[in-house]
Amino acid sequence: MNGNGDLRELYQEVILDHGKRPRNFRQLPDANRHAEGYNPLCGDRETVYLKVEGDVVSDASFQGAGCAISTASASMMTERLKGKSRAEIEALFAKFHDLITGEKSAAPGGPDLGKLEVFSGVREFPVRIKCATLPWHTMKAALAGDGETISTEDGAEASPREEPKVC
Ligand code: ZN
Repeated sequence: MNGNGDLRELYQEVILDHGKRPRNFRQLPDANRHAEGYNPLCGDRETVYLKVEGDVVSDASFQGAGCAISTASASMMTERLKGKSRAEIEALFAKFHDLITGEKSAAPGGPDLGKLEVFSGVREFPVRIKCATLPWHTMKAALAGDGETISTEDGAEASPREEPKVC
């Protein structure tokens, strides 16, 4: 339903806060995984660092330059990852992805999104969805250990219909 003014206000408040003062915004000296993500549509560029011990992410951080939404998303994501297993992280991302895209691909139930719920506001700005998911896709690439730069646009040239947007 539309008209949830409280959530919209919270969305702006939380995104501004995390966008200006991102948490875990640093290199992780003992990281054993990292990946770089790039969203050419907005210009967001982020490197996600993970310390993975066995099946669990014990620490997470990021660095880079991006718009308030990608920065806030990375900030809040790194807060949520610590102590989570790969399976828990997969389930969390599936729910987060559904929240901001409006799709229903995640299994019913699953983890509580908590503060990440504020990103439901992104649905009103479709061009920003990739800003919000960039850190998550980058984190997944880091977890997979690819060590490559991932792009939100497959094959770099993007589709001709999509014009670059400035955030
Ligand atoms: Zn962006």
